[in-house]
Amino acid sequence: MRRWNGWGDEQTNYPLPDSAEDYLIELVGRGSLAPDAVFEQVLATVPASRLPSHPLISTDAPDRLLHARGQSLPDWIALRSGRIGAFPDGVAYPGSDEDVLQLLGYAHQAMACLIPYGGGTSVVGHINPLNGDRPVLTVDLSHLNKLTNLDETSCLATFGAGVRGPDLENQLQANGYTLGHFPQSFELSTLGGWIATRSCGQQSYYYGRIEDLFAGGHIETGAGPLDLPCLPASAAGPDLRQLILGSEGRLGIITRAVVRIRKLPAFEQFFGVFFSDWESGADAVREIAQSRVPISMARLSDAQETETTLVLSGKERLVSFANRSLALLGYNKQRCLLVLGVTGDARRAAQGRRLTLSITRRHNGLYTGAIIGNLWRKSRFLSPYLRNTLWVHGYAIDTLETALPWCSVLSAAKAIKSVLQNALDQSTATKGLSGGLVFSHLSHVYRDGASIYTTFLFPRSADPAETLERWQAAKSAASQVIVGLHGTISHQHGVGSDHAPYLAAEKGLVGVQALAAACHTLDPNGLLNPGKLITP
Ligand SMILES: Cc1cc2nc3c(=O)[nH]c(=O)nc-3n(C[C@H](O)[C@H](O)[C@H](O)COP(=O)(O)OP(=O)(O)OC[C@H]3O[C@@H](n4cnc5c(N)ncnc54)[C@H](O)[C@@H]3O)c2cc1C
Repeated sequence: MRRWNGWGDEQTNYPLPDSAEDYLIELVGRGSLAPDAVFEQVLATVPASRLPSHPLISTDAPDRLLHARGQSLPDWIALRSGRIGAFPDGVAYPGSDEDVLQLLGYAHQAMACLIPYGGGTSVVGHINPLNGDRPVLTVDLSHLNKLTNLDETSCLATFGAGVRGPDLENQLQANGYTLGHFPQSFELSTLGGWIATRSCGQQSYYYGRIEDLFAGGHIETGAGPLDLPCLPASAAGPDLRQLILGSEGRLGIITRAVVRIRKLPAFEQFFGVFFSDWESGADAVREIAQSRVPISMARLSDAQETETTLVLSGKERLVSFANRSLALLGYNKQRCLLVLGVTGDARRAAQGRRLTLSITRRHNGLYTGAIIGNLWRKSRFLSPYLRNTLWVHGYAIDTLETALPWCSVLSAAKAIKSVLQNALDQSTATKGLSGGLVFSHLSHVYRDGASIYTTFLFPRSADPAETLERWQAAKSAASQVIVGLHGTISHQHGVGSDHAPYLAAEKGLVGVQALAAACHTLDPNGLLNPGKLITP
């Protein structure tokens, strides 16, 4: 069963090794172990529904509580303290386009707003109801989860948009195909959610981002149905798929999507390379990206992330052996780990590995074989479970991400880390709490730039409002630095409500007006997810 106030399945845990707990206490001190609110207590706070009854809609309190929040740190603080704020008034589970159409008509009549809901893994407030006079109906797409057409000649597959990652891959892999879209939230996130947030999978370097994979589909908008035909290419004006990608539930409900699939790869391998410092690692991944070496992923951790990842892995003997050997070879405290992947047929993968290693060698990289790559592969979807464990041990953790051209990547990564560290240290001074731990990696590399993914961890306070305040101070300081450096406010998580104040910095006034006009055209009655992406 899915955890109601944390990540993933209740039966799955990621224990914190003793050595990792000691490491965190030494670096950031101890956090509060204040207990979480109990499900039944929080259930009792769900108010009466304001929606008229309808056969497709559940107004049961558990349904409404389970759809009230996503997976951001503020969401966790709300759920675990029981201070949720706003709940949807009802949850619908449509099973067809006709059901969705009916719900749109119903919402109009009931003067309700409507929040499309995929897997609820948003980390920026996309699916949270806002307080207001209008009732809120959450539309959970999970019943639209089937593979309905497989065109093997064109390598196109059609799915109900509510299909979750593992169900999508199981249905494709049974036929020898894969989509290859593997965000870290793969276990719970859905195809419709990926499209609506412009999601990016861990191996997007090989398979492409969701915007490369989304070939067409069907959307029920507030102005009627919108069909996006699947064409390999088209010069017939602007591409309307691009309008739906990243639409965050504002322009319609995606009920079906056609995606570009591939034959299952015959070969795949992940391996690790150490660099003596972050700069040489970054030079190497830039050269790999600009030389178009056929890899499937590259993830370069800074020195702090390298150390923390090794400690949290719990492989104490292996890590201590690796640390001693690396130090002997001259890779000291500033060492940085690059995890690389090669995917495809064996010949292409071997070529990718050979070319990559010749570049990394030129940058003084030390190839360490597949052990570290295998550790990464095993924990790639398990590491979000560490958030649950860290919380129980008194720590709050969050991440933020951006992308910039190569000329700014290193200085921006440094500036983001520094502003986060300062914000956490400052709240230490004023609140009598310990500081924070901040680290980054380059998570996706492109020919012209890279994404910077920064994690910040800090001890939580016994007072949830104080934990939230610390998060707000850090998040807003980092967001201001990002827009000040002309980075995107999001490389992969989207805008939702948390990033909405920063959108105009990227799109400009006219750009935001154009988006508002699109919302007005496709949702003339203002039913769909108001207040997200662009604020009124
Ligand atoms: C631990 C963790 C790791 C993550 N890792 C990644 C990662 O590696 N890469 C990445 O890109 N993101 C990542 N995310 C963020 C999140 O998983 C993505 O934004 C994901 O695409 C959201 O999908 P979802 O189905 O959960 O959508 P939801 O959270 O349910 O919804 C997100 C938005 O999409 C809209 N939406 C959903 N379905 C539809 C639909 N059918 N029609 C219209 N609108 C719809 C919603 O209204 C909402 O605005 C991560 C999140 C977590 C918690």
